[in-house]
Amino acid sequence: MNEFPKQLLKTSEFELSTFPVGYHGWQELDLANQVKVPIALACGRNPGPLLFVSASVHGDEFEGIVAIQEFFRELDTDSLKGTFIGLPIANPYAFEGQTRESSLPVDGLNLARQFPGNVNGSPTQCLAASLYGLVTRLLGSDDLFVDFHSGGTRYEYLTMVGYHPTGDVVEEKSRNLARAFGVTTLWEIPPSPNSTATFNGAVARAGIPTIGTEVRGRGGLLACDVAPLTRGLKRLLVASGMMEGKIDDVYYGAPTVTEPINCSESGILKSNAEIGERVKEGSELAQIVNTKGELLERITTSSAGIVWAMRRFGSIRSGEMAYLIGVAAR
Ligand SMILES: [Zn+2]
Repeated sequence: MNEFPKQLLKTSEFELSTFPVGYHGWQELDLANQVKVPIALACGRNPGPLLFVSASVHGDEFEGIVAIQEFFRELDTDSLKGTFIGLPIANPYAFEGQTRESSLPVDGLNLARQFPGNVNGSPTQCLAASLYGLVTRLLGSDDLFVDFHSGGTRYEYLTMVGYHPTGDVVEEKSRNLARAFGVTTLWEIPPSPNSTATFNGAVARAGIPTIGTEVRGRGGLLACDVAPLTRGLKRLLVASGMMEGKIDDVYYGAPTVTEPINCSESGILKSNAEIGERVKEGSELAQIVNTKGELLERITTSSAGIVWAMRRFGSIRSGEMAYLIGVAAR
């Protein structure tokens, strides 16, 4: 049913009840400062939870955008219980700039470090406040929030699904959603100032069942990295009772936490490690050299584990993450 007219909807005025049962179409959302983004909306024939899926908080991560498009195109509102909202371009400042962070003329900020945002702040801080306000107003403890990420242009990640150990009643729901998503690497995202300021970290702490995902990235948009995301969304529909069906159990070991390894020096990054490689405590993963090839820093592990993510770009700046090591939860 697409007779409902396309409108420009302000986040503060966006109400699901505006749309007729059976509606399936694209609308335009006015997020903040007249920033307009597309939003996909499907209203099921029967009542049920709201599944809200966001992609491209980082503007160089494309797999989630395509997963939302493909999942939405196939979604049948006749058999859907509840509502689906897809927000493929969460950060238009970064997407338009073809950059991970909001483009420099805007403010150069990483949206995934700004939540819950600031309505009186810079454009990216305002954007975070607008997104956070929308999601926390529409969703509650019986709904589902998904935040798609990938390695983008500069990193490579294993395919993984993460949840936040919020220590409240929705933590178990989030963990169960992560398990239902059906990719084998399960990540318990350690609390930190960075992780709590992400879109998924802030929404999880607002009492909404939440997962975040990572896929390869490495500068591309591979169909094999989109497929686990569209499949995962279909599995979430079944697991949450929004669609009839059966899903097979996926085997998981204990959830794994991660330790980021950030560099101190800026320079050329010469990596000796590979994605998925098992590493020992104290292993040298890379060297940073200057433009004359002189050694500036050795990047070593502080724990044994598996290389879950690594920088693929050949230069690095002081403070940036070089590796993410998956280690057994203590
Ligand atoms: Zn990201």
